[in-house]
Amino acid sequence: MTKKLRAGILGATGVVGQRFIQLLQDHPQFEVTALAASDRSQGKTYAEACTWRLPGEMPDHVKQIVVQSPAPPLDCDFVFSSLPGEIAGDTEEKFARAGFPVITNSSSHRMDADVPLLIPEVNAEHLELITAQRAARGYGRGFIVTNPNCSTIVIAMALAPLHRAFGVESCIATTMQAISGAGYPGVASLDIVDNVLPFIGGEEEKIESETVKILGRVDGTTIKGAEMKVSAQCNRVNVIDGHLAAIRVKLSEAASLDQVRAALASFSSLPQDLNLHSAPARPIIVRDELDRPQPRLDRDAGNGMSVTVGRIATDNVLDYRLVALGHNTIRGAAGAAILNAELLLAQGYL
Ligand code: NAP
Repeated sequence: MTKKLRAGILGATGVVGQRFIQLLQDHPQFEVTALAASDRSQGKTYAEACTWRLPGEMPDHVKQIVVQSPAPPLDCDFVFSSLPGEIAGDTEEKFARAGFPVITNSSSHRMDADVPLLIPEVNAEHLELITAQRAARGYGRGFIVTNPNCSTIVIAMALAPLHRAFGVESCIATTMQAISGAGYPGVASLDIVDNVLPFIGGEEEKIESETVKILGRVDGTTIKGAEMKVSAQCNRVNVIDGHLAAIRVKLSEAASLDQVRAALASFSSLPQDLNLHSAPARPIIVRDELDRPQPRLDRDAGNGMSVTVGRIATDNVLDYRLVALGHNTIRGAAGAAILNAELLLAQGYL
């Protein structure tokens, strides 16, 4: 058996950090050897520092790891980062400069011209940027690869097969986002129970800019954004996990409803061909029932890594409409980063 790569987790005690630990338990290629969080947690064992909030027990193998400051060097071969945006930017650069590959959820570097904003099923070729990034930033063995915002991943995955087959000229997306997307303790219960909040700071801008980059193509040492207009409106709703997006699209080429449905339902890509450990057999699951997808019923599809699409129909204003749903802390965060790491390993970057 080949030796497992040693992974560090920055922000290990948070909502996303705990998902990393859960998803990396018994991973065939990676083992968790270093954990970092804020000074509130540093110096304590993980069992002391972390209040475990996922179903099931905290995995035994992390309980006695002492939580450290998120500063290099750590006892690992690469790091996953789920640090808050305010501190992620500098910290991740320090790790990359110290020779650590950084695979991050945080938003700080997503729109950097030389940083891949990766969804392995959609834009694996964007990893070509790593060579130029290393050279330009003097990173040596280190680099930074990001995954998109948790709603953007769901929207971009639903658009990708349509963009590939027919071109997407414009898209209007209205999200209904789960409470766990705001971290812990997140939104106050008195604000969200019996309520919908029609504002999530920075989210609409992230969806609008990130989607264009993800669906763009490599142009030398940068990404040329897809020529499409994206408009997003974001709402926080009283759901624990699972971001849902109602999407309308205008296509560049005419396509029938059957062709649109077939493009989505047959979508499969490099992670499925490579049989990557976290890749779902079907990245997009199309459901034809009139009342699907629903967060409670569909967020765990494909172990939380599939995006479920339903309500595919013609639209009176744009061409087609659909509803897409994905698990925000799995496909939208920790699971996305782990799949990124699996692809990076398969392609020789790790
Ligand atoms: P969270 O539950 O608030 O966890 C934050 C983590 O960062 C904790 O481990 C915390 O450690 C640590 N931390 C906070 N301040 C720190 C500091 N000054 N120095 C070092 N560590 C610090 O947040 P989250 O939801 O996991 O989100 C983490 C990141 O992932 C954010 O950038 C977020 O935007 C992104 N993200 C989240 C989701 C989601 O669905 N939740 C999805 C995609 C991306 P302590 O416990 O010691 O305070």
